[in-house]
Amino acid sequence: MNQLFSDRILNSKKSFIREILKITNNKDIISFAGGLPNPISFPTAALQDAMNTVTSKNGSHVFQYATTEGYLPLREYIAKRYQTKHGLTINADDILITSGSQQGLDLIGKVFLNKDDHVLIEKPGYLGAIQALSLYEPHFHQVDLFEDGIDLNQFKTLLHQHNIKLFYSVPNFQNPTGITYSKANREALGGMLNDTQTVLIEDDPYGELRFIGEDVPYIQSFSSNPSILLGSFSKIVTPGMRIGWICTTRPEIMDKLIIAKQASDLHTNYFSQRVIYQYLIDNNLEEHISHIKKLYKEQREAMLLSIAEYFPENIKITKPEGGMFLWATLPDSMSSLKLFELASTLKVAFVPGEPFYVGEIPQNTLRLNYTNSDPKTIDEGIKRLGQAIKTLLAQA
Ligand code: PMP
Repeated sequence: MNQLFSDRILNSKKSFIREILKITNNKDIISFAGGLPNPISFPTAALQDAMNTVTSKNGSHVFQYATTEGYLPLREYIAKRYQTKHGLTINADDILITSGSQQGLDLIGKVFLNKDDHVLIEKPGYLGAIQALSLYEPHFHQVDLFEDGIDLNQFKTLLHQHNIKLFYSVPNFQNPTGITYSKANREALGGMLNDTQTVLIEDDPYGELRFIGEDVPYIQSFSSNPSILLGSFSKIVTPGMRIGWICTTRPEIMDKLIIAKQASDLHTNYFSQRVIYQYLIDNNLEEHISHIKKLYKEQREAMLLSIAEYFPENIKITKPEGGMFLWATLPDSMSSLKLFELASTLKVAFVPGEPFYVGEIPQNTLRLNYTNSDPKTIDEGIKRLGQAIKTLLAQA
């Protein structure tokens, strides 16, 4: 039946993580595999109140079709937050509400990519971006990540070797590594971009979840190239309502994104937009985010403490200052896929690094999510994983 399908879908893979999550749905398994926010952080009662208010105040209006750009007061709220938190001059016209930031990635692919265009992403990079952009059949290149950002020498070489159209980055608490680019790294790479035609994409779903250290300016502050910011309420309010946004101060880019959005789905779920907005004006978002950060900080501490106790010393671990993930590098001789199989028998799961790479794939990396288990469960899970690592090391 393959002759029926487009090349683009035939060349795209199923999400390896979704497949793994099926295995980890089993309740006996301690899972560090998912990338889900902790459901105890969802403001369920307040969202229910917001839903009632919106419906009783506005009646049938909130169930009607709406504008492609999104609900204006919500776009104004987001623009104002960029101004107050980051000192950026952003207006409501610079914001397009999307169905999660994941749709933002798809729209960017639609607007910018022809088949065989060159796209640069981080190594390892966000799997969802690889999936979304793959449908537009570009050539991917990856640039190595260090603890303080990307490898600048490699970045410069790649920018000049290929005609890179898009550089996609997750500069804060990156998925999958948890790494944050330092100010110096952002400044240097912003400067390098200035000599090119490359569009800078900064995807920032985790930026508000910083529990250690201080915020760093966006890369776009150091570059005059066309740039796009992606944002989302998924990690700070709820992912299920699918409200994210694209921000760009370039009207030429925004015009094209609006055409692509209209063609895709006319507009983002209007009822969800109204409910989220009502929630935001009736509640204290800062307080809510502080509560999430406290929770995740404790979970991150618990995971790092247990790793120090149970993992052999030659396992390299990132120490994220926020977000939801940390990244482990095993000795070269070890395979994280083999470890996954052994760990499953001990009823603990994680994501092997493989799906976060395009091209050459290191075998010895893995992602650990700490936001979905309490500290006691984290300790038990890491103890089991440590046991699996030691068993595999002994066999090597
Ligand atoms: N970008 C990154 C880096 C992510 O980790 C995620 C969620 N896993 C998304 C985008 C998509 O988020 P959403 O569509 O829920 O806003």
